[in-house]
Amino acid sequence: MAIEQQVFYIAKCDICGAHCDEAGDVWLWDTTRQLAVQQAADTPGWTEVEGDIVCPVSDAKHDEAREGDSPLLAAPPKDAVTVSFQEAS
Ligand SMILES: [Zn+2]
Repeated sequence: MAIEQQVFYIAKCDICGAHCDEAGDVWLWDTTRQLAVQQAADTPGWTEVEGDIVCPVSDAKHDEAREGDSPLLAAPPKDAVTVSFQEAS
């Protein structure tokens, strides 16, 4: 009996390790790592962030990962206060 070994790749969430699947049913696999990540990036709810892949779960870690290095996060919040002191002359 002839046997052929096949390798396939399934993208997993970089935050929680959940497998990328279709409606919690069938794992979405592909023949290369790159294609598996691309497939996950094209799956509704999944987000590719700088080569990482994040599942649709919404919690602090996932939301933070999805937002990446958004310039909005780096900006001070609206209630931030800047105080400067000058020497009296
Ligand atoms: Zn996840």
